[in-house]
Amino acid sequence: MSSDPSPDRPGPPLWLLAELTYRCPLHCVFCYNPVDYARHEDELGTADWLRVLREARALGAVQCGFSGGEPLLRDDLEELVAEARRLGYYTNLLTSGVGLTRERAAALKAAGLDHVQLSFQDSTREMNDFLSHTRTFDLKQRVAGLLKEQGWPMVMNVVIHRLNIDHIDRIIAMAADCGAEYLELANTQYYSWAMLNRDQLLPTRAQLVEAERVTDDWRRRLDGRMRIFFVAPDYHEGTVKRCVNGWGSTMLTVAPDGAMLPCHTARMLPGLQFPNVRETSVEQGWYASDGFQRYRGTGWMKEPCRSCEHKERDLGGCRCQAWMLTQDAEAADPACTRSPHHGAVRSAVDAAESRIQFTERAMPRERPLIYRDRANSLRWADAPLQPARADGSAAD
Ligand code: SF4
Ligand code: SF4
Repeated sequence: MSSDPSPDRPGPPLWLLAELTYRCPLHCVFCYNPVDYARHEDELGTADWLRVLREARALGAVQCGFSGGEPLLRDDLEELVAEARRLGYYTNLLTSGVGLTRERAAALKAAGLDHVQLSFQDSTREMNDFLSHTRTFDLKQRVAGLLKEQGWPMVMNVVIHRLNIDHIDRIIAMAADCGAEYLELANTQYYSWAMLNRDQLLPTRAQLVEAERVTDDWRRRLDGRMRIFFVAPDYHEGTVKRCVNGWGSTMLTVAPDGAMLPCHTARMLPGLQFPNVRETSVEQGWYASDGFQRYRGTGWMKEPCRSCEHKERDLGGCRCQAWMLTQDAEAADPACTRSPHHGAVRSAVDAAESRIQFTERAMPRERPLIYRDRANSLRWADAPLQPARADGSAAD
């Protein structure tokens, strides 16, 4: 492992997120991949990924998540997992399940894959398939069975928003039926595609309160047989969290084209140069690049964060959210009630309150959702990341 005598040197990355590809058979309206992903499709080859795994491990990374897009679209996934395991990582596959056959599951198990996070869009076939613009609900049920066959601990992940939050009781029941050990109910974070579709996805306060009540009720009934994580939405909380546990502190994302990023959406920020593993070592990129140095710690802050007693705890929140909502990446995250721009978040939440309750059928006619696909990626690549208007154009 790399050692460094300087007390000021940041610690090493602990978690490597290997985004193997932006290709994905699904088209989720809340997809976390960058809206302009179609501009970054030049994927690293196997040899480059093997080098990234070795270099990040040598720095000190202990956990490796294989993600995408859909990582199962890579033919070398088994080889990469085997190498990660050999190097001593705890390995995790984040997947929609599309492409996981019984044979492939057995091969990944033999390669040493430690656990799998399977995403569902909803507990109903109609909404699952509507949100992903695919017919994948039945397939996901089969994949859940394959995961249990291989004896993996199963994490089921469901992104929660206005269109499925009222199904939370059935979602939890479905996860329990599938034998999931963990259920992550992740309230939508409004970046990337979710930001384009924010007006349709933002739930009301009443929906959230009810969802938390139902979740607590299930926790009591399950009595620890399945752990449920309800990830609270920062738009409604008025407080912010450390984004990715602190910029350049814990998480290293390597995008499909080799860009090294502190978080998977950081490339949207203006004026930042991020290193690429095709041109630099992981060590050099992590410790010495402007992209990773810029927002480390608290030295970059301006008011109100600079003199705030919470600055070490939350590090001023999310830089991408600050940029999207204020066009100033050094501003306090507007989800914080102390931010002078908090009104941007409050007005979105208030608008969600006043909006009519869309039915699943009426909503798309009211304002079309923007699906994550290549054509939309190219169309929206240069648009400011703000919710789309009803006529399909970007907001001012
Ligand atoms: S969120 Fe949906 S579209 Fe985006 S990578 Fe995951 S499965 Fe694919
Ligand atoms: S003002 Fe800044 S440091 Fe203080 S709580 Fe808000 S985001 Fe955190």
